[in-house]
Amino acid sequence: MQNEFGRLALACGVRAFIAVGLILVGSHLAQAGPHSGRGKAEAAASGCPAIAAPPYAGPIFDAMAQTDQSLDAEAALATARAEGVVKLALFARVHRHQDGRGLVDHLAAKYPDFIVRGAPKEWDMPRDLPSIYIDEVLAGVASGHFRFVGEIIYTEGNKGEGEVTEGGERYTDPTLPGTKHLLDGLAGTGIPVMMHWEAYSWARDWPHFDRLYSAYPNQIFVLPHLAFASHDQAAEVLAAHPNVWATISKKDKDNVNLVDEDKEEETGESLVDECSQLKPEWRDLLVRYSTRLMFATDAHKERRWVQYVEIIRRWRAILGQLPPDVAAAIAHGNAERLYRSPIGN
Ligand SMILES: [Zn+2]
Repeated sequence: MQNEFGRLALACGVRAFIAVGLILVGSHLAQAGPHSGRGKAEAAASGCPAIAAPPYAGPIFDAMAQTDQSLDAEAALATARAEGVVKLALFARVHRHQDGRGLVDHLAAKYPDFIVRGAPKEWDMPRDLPSIYIDEVLAGVASGHFRFVGEIIYTEGNKGEGEVTEGGERYTDPTLPGTKHLLDGLAGTGIPVMMHWEAYSWARDWPHFDRLYSAYPNQIFVLPHLAFASHDQAAEVLAAHPNVWATISKKDKDNVNLVDEDKEEETGESLVDECSQLKPEWRDLLVRYSTRLMFATDAHKERRWVQYVEIIRRWRAILGQLPPDVAAAIAHGNAERLYRSPIGN
């Protein structure tokens, strides 16, 4: 059994690791941004043409990030600010030895203009949302504590570095009573709900969410990572439901890193090509639904927080390929409206 000292040493080790990682990643990219001489040389060496458009240089509202208790939050927030992030929608991760609620509460109290606090993400919700979770969320919404409902995991394929579950996935059934209780309880509050599901079992899952989105036309749903869907699937969801918004986090990668190769194969393609150029059909989609799509880092585990600088800079280069008003809406304007948290307040 781990003693108090062991836990402390572990926590300190993780913090030191993250702090060093942030500094290293930051200094590396500062020297080799996409428009630096070295960045262009590297692009040429890789056979990729340099991206013609300059990166998006305006403010960023990180529409979705999460943390457990071990993050060196002051260093992480300083890094985000240094990269032009002006607001951050943040919720806690709660799972076995993880509980970020205290840290998120502390940060929301200390930086009320910077942090928009969401209801925590609870991992232990097999099959249906438990009442204890629903009660915590609704009480926090009623008191003004939570401005959105953080990611609820409905379907998630086992990831390469993650835990192994039965059937190779986590599965919470959106048709069981818990989801209805939660959504009925949120009626009239204007509080958006993040529901994470993945496209790998489209024929099973899309009909459930299609019906759910239709049943609650006044509820805003946020679809994290556009469900890792293909262009056609993402377009189908967004066209069918004006009350569905989405984050585009992680859609800059082809590989979702699912253990099950069949599931991996069923997930959608990246919205950029191997040279980080927006694919035309994805560019059209981002423009068409530009009032409901949001940039987010989805920083969550140490690994993603360490990559924060890199993620921001990669996306600035992608957003720079969009018309300026579209880039600004996705980078911050839509999140300002969704969370009712305008920049400058
Ligand atoms: Zn997610």
